[in-house]
Amino acid sequence: MKILIAEADEQTRLRLFALLSQRGYEVMIATNGAEACRLLQHDDAPSLALIGRHMPGLDGLELCRTVRQWSNERYIYMVMLTVQKDTPDIVAGMRAGADDYISKNCAFDELHARLRAGERILKLQEQLRIEATHDVLTGTLNRRAILSLLERQAAQATRHPSQVGILLLDLDHFKKVNDSHGHTTGDDVLTETAKRLAAPLRRYDALGRYGGEEFLIVLPRCDLERTAEVAERVRLSVSKTPIDTSAGKIAITASIGAAAMDQGPVSAHDLIQRADQALYDAKALGRNRVATRVRTLEHAC
Ligand code: GH3
Ligand code: MG
Ligand code: MG
Repeated sequence: MKILIAEADEQTRLRLFALLSQRGYEVMIATNGAEACRLLQHDDAPSLALIGRHMPGLDGLELCRTVRQWSNERYIYMVMLTVQKDTPDIVAGMRAGADDYISKNCAFDELHARLRAGERILKLQEQLRIEATHDVLTGTLNRRAILSLLERQAAQATRHPSQVGILLLDLDHFKKVNDSHGHTTGDDVLTETAKRLAAPLRRYDALGRYGGEEFLIVLPRCDLERTAEVAERVRLSVSKTPIDTSAGKIAITASIGAAAMDQGPVSAHDLIQRADQALYDAKALGRNRVATRVRTLEHAC
């Protein structure tokens, strides 16, 4: 478990560093609030932090307030360290956003026990976050999570001009799978499809279940040409071999609508609309294919 020690006093820092390292924590150190703030903003920042009440520049209270203002999905559990342990100090720390409060000179067993309590809360919080953002059947992101990821990517690509491509994918004649083999087999086919969709993607691409048998894929830094290439690989991945189910082998294909931000910034909503129109084209042209749309309906290809 990673932990940040943000503390101005060197002796306290060294003592805590030694004790926590011995207990297997991966310890990061900050000597002031501003440095702690930077470290906590990294994608792989610790979610557990020991924060000194008095630090030069940004003090412990200000640091806690700043962290709590971030709209991060990841929760940071903060324990405030202080010399005194009187009620007004505790109240001020908790009001600023600290989860717990402990004297710098307390026995290490007490600090460790409090950190373990924090770890339990973080674990629960992570479970809740995963349940709230993932689709139960396929394990992909759910509709709300993939849409909010797309909105973030589109906003970011507008601020620092870059590309974002998306694929809207719909399984072909899926109703027939349910009608012929039953809903449970249909569920198995959906689960295997999600795995096949993920296989050709890069680590920073994202896959979500958009609706019943529809999936949305977000491809950062992909122009329309690259987006269409990925779409073709995804299409082939889905249909490469029939899916093995308890009801036998079931062949499956998908139609894909591809769209990208190519011609300047567009909103997530516009991108989806374009991909949706392209998907409609792919279905109308005979299914099991990729279609792309640029700005307007007239440019369908
Ligand atoms: P098209 O090629 O035009 O897309 O035909 P389709 O049969 O795939 O389209 P339609 O929208 O008529 O059917 C989608 C089917 O997907 C209907 C619905 O029962 C099924 N479906 C949606 N969600 C689930 C699910 O969670 N599990 C299963 N087994 N089936 C689902
Ligand atoms: Mg559908
Ligand atoms: Mg369908």
